[in-house]
Amino acid sequence: MKKMPVLLTFDVDGEMIWRCRDPENANRPVALSLGEYGIKCGLPRVLKTLKKFDLPATFFVPGFIAEKYPHVIPLLNDGRNDIGNHSYSHTYPDKFPSKEAEEEDYKKAQKILTEQLGWEPKGYRSPAWEYSVHSLDIIEEMGFEYASNMMGSDSIEYLDTSAVPGGRKSNIVELPIHWILDDAAFWMYSVRIVGKAMQPLESVLDCWCREFDGLYEDFMAEVAEKGDSDICFVLTCHPQIIGRPSRVSVLERLIEHMNGTGNVEYITAKTAVERFRARHEA
Ligand SMILES: [Zn+2]
Repeated sequence: MKKMPVLLTFDVDGEMIWRCRDPENANRPVALSLGEYGIKCGLPRVLKTLKKFDLPATFFVPGFIAEKYPHVIPLLNDGRNDIGNHSYSHTYPDKFPSKEAEEEDYKKAQKILTEQLGWEPKGYRSPAWEYSVHSLDIIEEMGFEYASNMMGSDSIEYLDTSAVPGGRKSNIVELPIHWILDDAAFWMYSVRIVGKAMQPLESVLDCWCREFDGLYEDFMAEVAEKGDSDICFVLTCHPQIIGRPSRVSVLERLIEHMNGTGNVEYITAKTAVERFRARHEA
């Protein structure tokens, strides 16, 4: 029986998630400490959970974080996990003043990550889950194999930005994400984010389990009909958010729920992309 692919992805943003929202946060130690928590406490807790269930994961790390906390990449680079480029400064792509500035930022991150990893990351995740008008050109020119930013599908596809003027189909493989499968949408909190409230743990667990159940059902139906499927379950979490004790227990219960099918396979982005390319010509 074909197994449902599950990709656990983590954006190790540290304090950059706060600095990019408001440059003034660079002068606010409490705001920065929220991000530092992700490196100091959240990431070890996430890694403990992955170890407990013996699962690989995919981590997107801003170059600034890799540089500031040089223990992080060696901790993640265990030969099983995949690590991707998440820019250097976590600047929202449309905030760069020029193509050159955006390119320089991604290349700076790529250099740092490559040096620390001993291999070159092949994946790119935008800090804002959006592209600038230059982003696609840049990530193609940099030779990325995959990206994980689009919300238009349940299935792995070739990246297609033709919905916007100047957009086009690309040979880059796109691993679909959605806000509903992102811990930040439910739990990212600051008194400065207007209208934000923390959601109850059980509601988030229920939501993620039902999302999985629906995708699993569709995956199995496609497999029955066509023999295979590109539907996958991609969860995106941030160590500073999911890494609180109560929330990591939600992640563990989700994993137990998915394992209950007896038919899931936890794979990295790299593996998902290799399998997709083997089945679909660019
Ligand atoms: Zn991020």
